[in-house]
Amino acid sequence: MTQPLQIVQLPLGPVQTNCYIAADPATREAVIIDPAWDAPRLLGVLAEHEWQTRAVLLTHAHFDHLGAAAEVVAATGAPFGAHPLELPMLRNGGGAALFGLNVPDCPEPDWLLEPGQPVIAGSVRFDVLFVPGHTPGHVAFYHAAAQVVFSGDVLFQQGIGRTDLPGGDYATLMGSIREVLLALPPETTVCPGHGSVTTIGSERRDNPFLAD
Ligand SMILES: [Zn+2]
Ligand SMILES: [Zn+2]
Repeated sequence: MTQPLQIVQLPLGPVQTNCYIAADPATREAVIIDPAWDAPRLLGVLAEHEWQTRAVLLTHAHFDHLGAAAEVVAATGAPFGAHPLELPMLRNGGGAALFGLNVPDCPEPDWLLEPGQPVIAGSVRFDVLFVPGHTPGHVAFYHAAAQVVFSGDVLFQQGIGRTDLPGGDYATLMGSIREVLLALPPETTVCPGHGSVTTIGSERRDNPFLAD
């Protein structure tokens, strides 16, 4: 049985990174996944829906996923969660310098995510899936009742995450996709870090990077 989870996808910033706001319409409690860029726009969407932010989460600490973290965490006062293996990159501007860019300093997470330990943010709950390969501490957020996974830069519609950036590893990425993401039910909606929403079933069937 699916349970409603209201999801807003906001492609933001220089590489159109998808920030997601996932809210429980019954309680108006919300979680922000990857506060990518443009805090005023993001905070405007929260205000417009009268949603209360209960957590700000990172799938991974690349600069394009955390550009608005400082402002959004300060404005919402919500706990900020990331995987501990992402801390070196988070403290290093998310690797923005490699791209000749600058992002505001990212705050230290006050919540270190542990795979297997669910995120409970008010009435919104996610399982934390460990899916390294694009980065060493990449996680995905899975809402079993709503049948949706927020997969960051691991699996895209007809694509996979790049592994040529520091800490990337192709074999590890493929293992994460095949053993963790593709193990989810085929009807699961995939909300990726870039590009269009897809499903586990259609990627299992049509993704050219996953052809056997
Ligand atoms: Zn990335
Ligand atoms: Zn990205």
